Amino acid sequence: MKIAVLAVQGAFAEHEKMLSDLGAESIEIRKKSDLEHDFDGIILPGGESTVMGKLIRELGIYEGLRKRIESGLPTLGTCAGLILMAKNIAGGESPHLATLPVTVKRNAYGRQLGSFTAKAYVSDVGEIPLTFIRAPYVERVDEGVDIIATAGGKIVGVKYGNQLGVSFHPEVTKSTALHEYFLGICTNCK
Ligand code: GLN
Repeated sequence: MKIAVLAVQGAFAEHEKMLSDLGAESIEIRKKSDLEHDFDGIILPGGESTVMGKLIRELGIYEGLRKRIESGLPTLGTCAGLILMAKNIAGGESPHLATLPVTVKRNAYGRQLGSFTAKAYVSDVGEIPLTFIRAPYVERVDEGVDIIATAGGKIVGVKYGNQLGVSFHPEVTKSTALHEYFLGICTNCK
């Protein structure tokens, strides 16, 4: 199993570590030609969505990545990765890849609750610890999007076809359950 990790900015190394702990190989996507490699899924990490959005355009990664996700490549977006995938960003900011029909609100928990932890039940995954870091939440889901996790009454996890988006950071906790679930989706698509 080979999983690509978008590695232009943000917490990509933590995802690679978790993939390696689970026995999956990872390859980094840093430039356009990296997309030509064979891989079974991709992870879009947390970081700063405006910076990542700008870099994927400048590096020529944007169009190829968008097409691969739209044609069914299993994709896990965490935090800023979820924002990259969202079709709409609350407040009128221009979307990035726009492959996931949801509206996200950036930095949605305000300054005081900038970073916090919680526990929640995630559908098909079970109860896992959640770490939020200047996190977004999903304000609205459009047709066909399943809500897989909520915390404090807010939507923090969604699934749409092979696209999984979560507003927390599973890669910084000890639980590998969400990555295992994602690898299961990648296996089924192989
Ligand atoms: N606040 C960041 C953004 O809007 C996301 C934070 C994160 O990925 N931890 O892009």
